[in-house]
Amino acid sequence: MAAFTAQLDPTLEELGDIKTAVSEAVTNCIVHAYPDQIGVIILTCSIEGDVLEIVVKDRGKGIEDLEQARQPLYTTGGSERSGMGFTIMESFMNECRVTSTPGKGTTVRMRKRIIPRRQML
Ligand code: ATP
Ligand code: MG
Repeated sequence: MAAFTAQLDPTLEELGDIKTAVSEAVTNCIVHAYPDQIGVIILTCSIEGDVLEIVVKDRGKGIEDLEQARQPLYTTGGSERSGMGFTIMESFMNECRVTSTPGKGTTVRMRKRIIPRRQML
């Protein structure tokens, strides 16, 4: 995924933002979607113009109340979680859309525009 993203020639800061957002989404799948089993996580990347899109999809437990789940500090994870994952994804990416069906799974679709830079020769 990093190699794919590199096509857009991101700065280290942009790359760091993307890595952090993806890490939050994948961690959520491991911790919340499949709390007591190993499950499949599907990661898809695409580029359209200067916009990178990353989709993180699980077929786990799903989210009953999305609006509540996306509130800063809201967590069902107990004291070892801070409830900031979705807030981090929203702030580090330009767009973060979540769809979820309880019992079926969750899809997080994130987009970030990579600012085009003049090539340094
Ligand atoms: P942190 O990310 O700060 O460690 P957190 O994971 O609880 O804490 P968020 O990432 O914002 O916080 O997620 C909020 C809540 O949404 C979670 O506590 C969980 O209930 C639910 N959730 C998030 N992602 C998923 C998922 N893929 N499947 C099922 N539930 C999820
Ligand atoms: Mg989280």
